[in-house]
Amino acid sequence: MPGTFCACSTPMGQSGIAVIRISGDMSGTGLDDCFKIIRTAGSAKVISQMEGYTAALADFIDPSDGSVIDRVVVTRFTAPHSYTGEDMTEISCHGGNAVKQEIFRVLFEKGIRPAEPGEFTKTAFVNGKLALSEAEAVMNVIKSESSGALKVSNSQVFGKLNSELSEVEETLYKAMSLIEMIVEFPEHDDTPVNTDRVREMISSAIDVLIPLKESYAQGRLLADRLRVALAGKPNSGKSTLLNRLTGFDRAIVTDIPGTTRDTLDQDIDIEGIPVRITDTAGIRETDDAIEAMGVERARSSIREADLCLFLVSPEDPEDEVISQLSLIRSGEADIPVVLVFTKSDVGINPSYEKIAASAKALGIEKSMIISALSDEGIDLIRKEILSFYDSLGSTSSTVVISGRHAGLIGLAADKLMEAGSALDDGLGEDIASSVIRSALDDIGAITGKTVSSELVNTIFSDFCIGK
Ligand code: GDP
Repeated sequence: MPGTFCACSTPMGQSGIAVIRISGDMSGTGLDDCFKIIRTAGSAKVISQMEGYTAALADFIDPSDGSVIDRVVVTRFTAPHSYTGEDMTEISCHGGNAVKQEIFRVLFEKGIRPAEPGEFTKTAFVNGKLALSEAEAVMNVIKSESSGALKVSNSQVFGKLNSELSEVEETLYKAMSLIEMIVEFPEHDDTPVNTDRVREMISSAIDVLIPLKESYAQGRLLADRLRVALAGKPNSGKSTLLNRLTGFDRAIVTDIPGTTRDTLDQDIDIEGIPVRITDTAGIRETDDAIEAMGVERARSSIREADLCLFLVSPEDPEDEVISQLSLIRSGEADIPVVLVFTKSDVGINPSYEKIAASAKALGIEKSMIISALSDEGIDLIRKEILSFYDSLGSTSSTVVISGRHAGLIGLAADKLMEAGSALDDGLGEDIASSVIRSALDDIGAITGKTVSSELVNTIFSDFCIGK
């Protein structure tokens, strides 16, 4: 949608300062009569005379009656040196609702329209200021809730994924032109050499794409959270461990079995990795309807988890522990489970070895001993969570954090394998070439080279207003 647009880039409600951004032709001369400059670095008398990247203290005026709406700081950016690539003005005003409303009223009366979600970043993409994957990563930077997620998102804003994929694109374009040569000059002497070179190029592209696709196992957890479910019989020490891991009393700790009737989530950051710990109600047969709901909720939390810590306290009867473990294994077969023997300060479960052996038979190999009271083994729990995250790592130094990107990279890799096989099996260069073209389309939907405007609109509609 063309035209000059504006939005408040800071959250709704009252705040000390709010930032209103305006992008487009009208953001300069079109707003000159809205600002009375009080002080600025240069000699500008009106905002359109201000140099790019300079600010001024100014009164924001309602031009219809000359009244002052707010004393603001106005920052000017001149095309193409702005976030969107267009002329831009940013107003840092007081963050009261009336102030913002009045400023927007004046802007709308000037014919400046409200921005669509993500329109500033979309405009930056359309004007070539950011590649598509870089523009998308801006939203991930905003959404990042851990230092790990922020680091990966920032590396993508700065173009790491885009540059790797651009190299793949270049290789594949070269492969396609070689194929064209082979097709046009089939009798040429070095045709077999060229076919080998095409094959090498396809393989080198696959070698970049597969680790990138695999890196999403970690990227997904960074974008979302690594989910750890605490399971075990009531009173096995789940809430106490949750409190110990999070550092404050989030869960009610009592010694009446069944107190944790529902699940409790707590988000923590372990060395930059965002982790959600869910304290589940114990899984047990119960006649209490409310507790039964909690038990069902617990089972579904375990199903959704990436890792399950199964707690066994010294007083838990061996047969009940084993039957619960089997229950977890039968319902939630794929989830890695670690046995955690709790309350080591008062002693370890007397059936420790038998429980560990039965767990092993169920494919649960790891166990550890902890005390939430004396802190023994709490560090081991953190390390276990981190090593689980590390175990998902791929050889790629770039981590793909977006499911859309991972899906397209996977598709492209599959197609290139198909193209390679077509060449190996002598099915013809034409088929290989058209499959490579289709893989290029997939990659282009990440770099933005072959993306449709509908897709671009869908991608940016997930952004916040004002970004
Ligand atoms: P949950 O039902 O599994 O959540 O168990 P809780 O965390 O509520 O703990 C049940 C009881 O065990 C409480 O009285 C806790 O104080 C106690 N408890 C938990 N962890 C430890 C521990 O490491 N050592 C000792 N001695 N007691 C613990």
